[in-house]
Parts: sequence; C-alpha cells; structure tokens
Amino acid sequence: MGAIPVPALYTAHAPPKPTLQDQWRAINLFGRNVASYKFALAEALLTLAPAGGNVVRLDELAKPFALAVCRHLHLEDKQSTSASSSFLAECRRFNQSEIDETQLIATTLAKGFNNVIDAFHVVGQGDVPQRFFIDERATSSGIRITDDFSRLLETASALDLPNEVEARWRLVETAWRLQVGRAMIAAYDDDSGQLLLPNRSMRRVAVTSCRDALNGYQQGKCFYCSSPITVVQSENLADVDHYFPHALRPTEVGHAINGVWNLVLACRACNRGEGGKSARVPHEDLLARLHARNEFLIGSHHPLRETLIAQTGTTEAGRRAYLTEFDGAAISKLIHRWKPRD
Ligand SMILES: [Zn+2]
Repeated sequence: MGAIPVPALYTAHAPPKPTLQDQWRAINLFGRNVASYKFALAEALLTLAPAGGNVVRLDELAKPFALAVCRHLHLEDKQSTSASSSFLAECRRFNQSEIDETQLIATTLAKGFNNVIDAFHVVGQGDVPQRFFIDERATSSGIRITDDFSRLLETASALDLPNEVEARWRLVETAWRLQVGRAMIAAYDDDSGQLLLPNRSMRRVAVTSCRDALNGYQQGKCFYCSSPITVVQSENLADVDHYFPHALRPTEVGHAINGVWNLVLACRACNRGEGGKSARVPHEDLLARLHARNEFLIGSHHPLRETLIAQTGTTEAGRRAYLTEFDGAAISKLIHRWKPRD
C-alpha cells in the first residue's frame, strides 16, 4: 500500500489515518502523470456527482470526460507525455468540427478509458486505502460508485475540489508544454491573484488561480494558525499571503517577493485582521514551516518544483540558507516579529 504524502508540518494536526479528502487530493495532486486523463475522470465524477451504490455506465461517463479533455486541448495542445495518442487525435478533430459528438463518444468508449480507470486510485506504490468507485466494466459496463465517494461530497471542503483539480491540471499541462527540467519560472500577479507562466512566445500569461493551486497542499487550513480556509466564496475564503511581507517590495530583496516559495494561504484574521501579520516578519519558528512546505512541494513532484528550485536553490541546505538569509534581510528592514494568536 503506498503511503499518502502528508506535509510534515501538518501531521501534528492530522488524524492518524488519511481522510477521504486526503486520499482524493493525493490522487489529483501527487505523483507523476503520463497523461491528463486522471484529471478528466475526476472532473467528470465531480460533475456527475452520482450517489453511492449507483453504476455510472461508460457511455454516460464518456461525454463529460471527453469534453473536459477537449476543453483543455484548446488551452494546451500537449495533454500527454507520449508523442501521439489516437484518442487525443480524435479529440482535436472534434475541436476542429471534423467529427461530431456521437463520434467523439464512440472513440472515447473505444480508446479513452484504456488505463485511467485502472490507474485512478494509484498513488505512489499502490492504491489509496479507500476507493471512490469499483471497476465493473466486465459485468455492468461501467463503474460502481462507492459510499466513500458520497461521503467525500458531503465533506466541508467538497466545494473546493473542482477548483483544485482544475488548478493542478493547468499546472501539469503547462509544465509539459514548457518541458519540465528547463526552468519554469512562475510569477504571482498581485492584482489578479493569478499565477503567470510563459506562453508560446514566452510572454507571461495568467495560468491559474494561485489560491486554487495552493489550497490542496495546505489541506484547507491557514498556514499560520490552522483554522479552516476555503477557495470558494465564503466567510472562510483564503487570502494569498506573502510570508515575507509585500512591504519589502521597494527594497533590494523586493524582486523575489512574488515567488511561489514566498506565497502561502492564510485566514483573514492572520492576514489582515486586527492583530494580523501586516508588515511584520513571521516568528522564527514559522520559517521552519515555510521551508518544510517548500520541500514538500518539491518532493511531491509539484509542477512548480523547477520554479521553486530556480528561485531558492538546488539543494535542501542551500534552500534553507536562502530562507535564513532572507529572514535576516527582512527583519533588519521591518524590525518587528509576528505570530498568530493561540
Ligand atoms: Zn490564520
């Protein structure tokens, strides 16, 4: 059984076993992908939201699944690490209006589900402990939804799950186009809240919401105080927070402030409430947490791994030293430390 990656900094708060949300997120957020079909299947399941015990026939699943792939092919033509795929070729033909929806669904039934149903639950060395569906293609031409999937949809963070799937998908397909391994430099745009990545002509364009991209990794909790946060409109809507405050922008370290390494999600009380962080430097203890968070993203094959390395250093020790040095520069300018209320 493969271990579910859980950020070390949150294990103190986490129950001993991974929750259903942990397992769903692990499927979508961790591990290496060779094609984006896992995201399309996740999106289709969240869209259909079938009740536990029901069978979803493949011909019902095919439409939302294929349309999700077609929509993403519009955004990024590279949806797989392999050179060619006859399924993707048919999806492109659909986008060009060369085949109709009936033909697209027929192709999807024949070729679209080849590996994704088998591989969906695999994280690391094996399947997650609880399954969201059972493969019954041999007996009932579909997949049987489990009660655990229904329970997942009843959890408090269920509304965030579609955004997380979409954010991860956008990052993965962008990384494929840019060929991870070459530096993939992301920047955060304060005004729009979007992560900017290079387009085909290497100009930076908005790719996904920074909030959606970070939330799964913080398990719906404020970076500083662990109170619940969410990425959909509500009283708990997370703020994207600069760990080292934005007030450093005009200084000689200011160019680095919008790097992903410095962005966390915080509750409104910590970010801008009375007693919030404002233009103060987080307490030294929190620096270790930021380092652990960045190492966790790097270790979990996050699509921005290369960006984090390019921004903060090629070795773990080097990245730790970078943060310590930055902390020294920040406190010498901003003078005051802050930590969250208990
Ligand atoms: Zn907080």
